[in-house]
Amino acid sequence: MKTTWMEIPKSVSIFEVCPRDGLQPEPVFIPTEKKIELVNRLTDAGCTRIEATSFVHPKWVPQMADARAVLAGIRRKPGVTYSALIPNMRGLELAIEAGLDEVVTIVSTSESHNRKNLNCAPEETLRQIEEINRVARQNNVRVRSYIATVFGCPIEGAMPPEKALEFALALESFGAYEVSLGDTTGMASPIQAFEIPLLIKAKLTRASLAVHYHQHEGIEHACNLASLQAGIRVFDGAAGGLGGCPYAPGATGNARTETIVDMFHRMGIDTGIDAAKLRSAGDYAQTLSTLLHMHPETE
Ligand code: MG
Repeated sequence: MKTTWMEIPKSVSIFEVCPRDGLQPEPVFIPTEKKIELVNRLTDAGCTRIEATSFVHPKWVPQMADARAVLAGIRRKPGVTYSALIPNMRGLELAIEAGLDEVVTIVSTSESHNRKNLNCAPEETLRQIEEINRVARQNNVRVRSYIATVFGCPIEGAMPPEKALEFALALESFGAYEVSLGDTTGMASPIQAFEIPLLIKAKLTRASLAVHYHQHEGIEHACNLASLQAGIRVFDGAAGGLGGCPYAPGATGNARTETIVDMFHRMGIDTGIDAAKLRSAGDYAQTLSTLLHMHPETE
């Protein structure tokens, strides 16, 4: 009789997004020193991959207007990768100036969502990302790429997995070392969370594949488990479960890293993260959030 129901890896990698994806939608500006403190606490907890900020125009995301100061103020621990989300080439230039060795790009499979997010068609965004990869390579900067709305779009509804596959292959061919499949508004089902990563992972030849789920009353963790079963070994999470969008009531927080880490540790899977210290960093992150306390519980 088979006694294990799936292949259990010895370890997985956690990509911590709280300082960027978690804080970005916060409506009240969070002082720079508190953002720095959060990144330092995550570093101390053993996080080795931290999305620290975003080089997006402050007109669009005022919360990230202090990107340069945050990166100048954090304690950069050797062996830890600090990255920034960049929407365009200007963002890449600023990231290079700030001494980053990794940037993160984003494109949605949904045309409506991409236009809302980046003000152009997804194909145009892909062209820009190709150019970003070219310049990043010349500067020894690694590129990680999100694909948003992979599991459904709040505007367009169901999204074909083939579209996500097509984009993932394009991003890999441009040079992305990792592609992260984003469930932008917490719409994914565990079946999708198994089948879509499985489909895409089988076709990628070089880039690794990650998953990025958003909260829906715990279903996000069922999705993480389903993706683990599909062979995924990189999981995005935000300490404190922060994130969402103040202008879209349906948009929920990111999958909470503390729960992801606890789940894997219970399964005997190493994350390299100190669960207690992470919990304390997550609690600290929650004290910075106004949004968290604005969510009507019964909505
Ligand atoms: Mg997110």
